[in-house]
Amino acid sequence: MQFGRFGTAPEGSRIGFEKGAVVIPDDPVVPFIRGDGTGPDIWKATQAVLDAAVAKGFGGRKRIAWFEVFAGDGAHDRFGEWLPQETVDAIAHYRVAIKGPLTTPIGGGFRSLNVTLRQVLDLYACIRPVRYFENVPSPVKRPQDVDMVIFRENVEDVYAGIEWRAGSPEADRMIEAITAAGKKVRPGSAIGVKPVSEIGSKRLVRKAIRFAIDHGKPSVTLVHKGNIMKYTEGAFRDWGYEVAREEFGAHTVAEGDLAGAKPPEGKVVIRDRIADSMFQQALLRPAEYSVVATTNLNGDYLSDALAAQVGGLGMAPGANEGEEHAIFEATHGTAPKYANLDKINPSSLILSGVMMLHYLGWHDAAASIEGSVARTLGKKIMTYDLARQTEGATEVGTSGFAQALIANL
Ligand code: NAP
Repeated sequence: MQFGRFGTAPEGSRIGFEKGAVVIPDDPVVPFIRGDGTGPDIWKATQAVLDAAVAKGFGGRKRIAWFEVFAGDGAHDRFGEWLPQETVDAIAHYRVAIKGPLTTPIGGGFRSLNVTLRQVLDLYACIRPVRYFENVPSPVKRPQDVDMVIFRENVEDVYAGIEWRAGSPEADRMIEAITAAGKKVRPGSAIGVKPVSEIGSKRLVRKAIRFAIDHGKPSVTLVHKGNIMKYTEGAFRDWGYEVAREEFGAHTVAEGDLAGAKPPEGKVVIRDRIADSMFQQALLRPAEYSVVATTNLNGDYLSDALAAQVGGLGMAPGANEGEEHAIFEATHGTAPKYANLDKINPSSLILSGVMMLHYLGWHDAAASIEGSVARTLGKKIMTYDLARQTEGATEVGTSGFAQALIANL
């Protein structure tokens, strides 16, 4: 298939979508964006590890047909555009993609390429698993107690990007309308709008509950600030409970209905926590939390805070998923000062690749990489970011870490 200025996609098959589920061929074409800054370094390492795990796991019966597409600096240098239409078209067509970090262009009216890709493809769930690998330096005493998966709404709330500069005609008009509705806003204020819809909230919580049921997780915690923002955050909580009750009644039980009793065997407990208290809980009693579903801004803060507990963003993978599209990505930025130095930790992108293999249903290959990361770090073979805080570590570069992972598959 031809994609304009990018040329012809490599030989391979398109991931299908039938009866509400993706259908995975043995040779899926997967578009990838190398990314800017350190992106090319970590992408090279990631591709090598994923290919090695798939080759080892399937003995040549399955393979990924990688198709390079462009965004960010890489696209601007080649095509004079930050996000060429061909990139969106290719990801929309092939359904699953993986990307390194992208520079956010400053000025020019382009908010963020990542946000744009999420909005255009309606990738409404940002999924961030947070787990600990032994020997990774951590600021907390029991990082091994953290084993959570955050489902964060990805296109509404503050990510809808609806705001106006203080003193602008749009902001003033909004203030007039708000005043006419009987509420007070100081004249000349900047205005931001926080939309939270029933559809948007329910589909996010639905994904989180389905995940919890499929993976035998004990609970789904709805994190919100509904004590203050009753009609946005509070509604998110209420819609969450509604989905659980109406669509997963046979598999879930609300914490409030248990009245302190133990949940029946095999049922997922649905409960809610106010966001500020959840930050305390995550530090003090992380073992009690498993799957979390939350609105955009809460999830933004919570997923980075949790990542810090298990070793920082260098170790934290992420996915942006919609109904029939998914983009897997490193959660950190481009770390430009380390570009082309073969130095940075590729684990975030590699573990995002692991999430992608799980999404493809290639669970054994995914598990073999996770096992290898654990074994490699277990031998204290690590990149500079972890080695500088670990006594007795053997420091390796990005490619050296990838080689060690491949050797330990
Ligand atoms: P950053 O690129 O995440 O880097 C900040 C610092 O975090 C680095 O200097 C490094 O710390 C550490 N770090 C990040 N990734 C690491 C890794 N893989 N291994 C080891 N250490 C790592 O944040 P930034 O400097 O604020 O952002 C740079 C650019 O990236 C900006 O244009 C920003 O908009 C963009 N960005 C993109 C994304 C995305 O594409 N998803 C996300 C966030 C930011 P030390 O210096 O201590 O070693």
